Amino acid sequence: MMYEKFVDGKKNEVVFILHNVIEVRIPKKIYEKYRRNYSDEEIISFCPHKNIYNAITKRKLYYITKESGVPLIGHTAFGIIDRGTNLLQVRPCTGCNLNCIFCSVDEGKSRTRVTDYMVDVDYLVEKFEEVADFKRKHCKNGIEAHIDGQGEPFIYPYIVELIRKLSKIADVVSIQTNGILITKDMIKRLEGYLDRINLSINSMDEKMAKVLAGVPTYNLKHVLEIAEEIAVSQIDLLIAPVWVPGYNDEDMKKIIEFGNKIGAGKKWKPFGIQKYIKYKFGRKPKGVKEMNFKVFYKKLEEMGEGLRLYPEDFGIVKCKSLPKKFKVGEKLKVKIEMEGRMKNEMLAFERDRVIQITETNKKVGEYTNIRIIRNKHNIYVAEES
Ligand code: SF4
Repeated sequence: MMYEKFVDGKKNEVVFILHNVIEVRIPKKIYEKYRRNYSDEEIISFCPHKNIYNAITKRKLYYITKESGVPLIGHTAFGIIDRGTNLLQVRPCTGCNLNCIFCSVDEGKSRTRVTDYMVDVDYLVEKFEEVADFKRKHCKNGIEAHIDGQGEPFIYPYIVELIRKLSKIADVVSIQTNGILITKDMIKRLEGYLDRINLSINSMDEKMAKVLAGVPTYNLKHVLEIAEEIAVSQIDLLIAPVWVPGYNDEDMKKIIEFGNKIGAGKKWKPFGIQKYIKYKFGRKPKGVKEMNFKVFYKKLEEMGEGLRLYPEDFGIVKCKSLPKKFKVGEKLKVKIEMEGRMKNEMLAFERDRVIQITETNKKVGEYTNIRIIRNKHNIYVAEES
């Protein structure tokens, strides 16, 4: 196990940072007691008095294993999302190393997200296989595993293992990333397993790139080098900027020039320009006027051919969804099992699905009556009734 260890004198805790992201804190007194009979690895794994955090975001972290009994369908923050096509979203963890000013999920230093999750790699792959087997029976095209999430998937310590294991099950494996944590060596290790990287490059100007990323340490040079490295590898490169009006209008053409020069899009489309969209719990950069879709598509057409994307460009077809387990309006009594991603949100598990209960004051272990208010794509939201 790769970890660093130190003592937090202020809190009197022994702190282990595993793989640069999982922070395990154990009261010093308890650690000293255990240390007489157990190794650090054993203490980290089995000590019942530990608290776990995401070392990057500093939020409480739930590490989800098969034994934990947490279902992997039902929440948008972790597990598998089936939106009724042959593409399944695979979400191994939450949390991000950047802090983009337009982030739709308010990641990095968040005002709205209070909890992080990380799923054990074998549990995630096992669930993916189960869902993919179901989808295959109803689908004429192959199954794509698209790794994305509410955050940056490359902070997941087992990302290479996850990709390699998914490649044995899925017909296509793709991933969305900001590229900061990708190394040249990693690209080599992923060749032959990963089919496409959707890489966010939002500006070709160093200063603007830092502004958009929301962190002064953002390294554009590194991301551009990684883009070149991907383009010459066996992995396909799709450059996916978010167009934030008033910030990076001039950059779109430059990004296209760069992508064409380095050979993005060997198999699929080279660019996936996304429109900035204001979300209720996302970030809203100062002074930005959201473009409507009509204007956005017109501008894409003016910039060049093939910039507007369609599901067919990626072989995405409709495909029967997993059966829903709850109807909208259905009432049930549930036990609160875990803290939710947002303040005043709690999670319950029923019929192998996660249910997000919003605006509740209930604590873990308590029971409550709820009414399902959303079940689209097997993502369940409920309110107390
Ligand atoms: S890289 Fe993505 S998840 Fe991270 S802050 Fe930026 S937009 Fe949000």
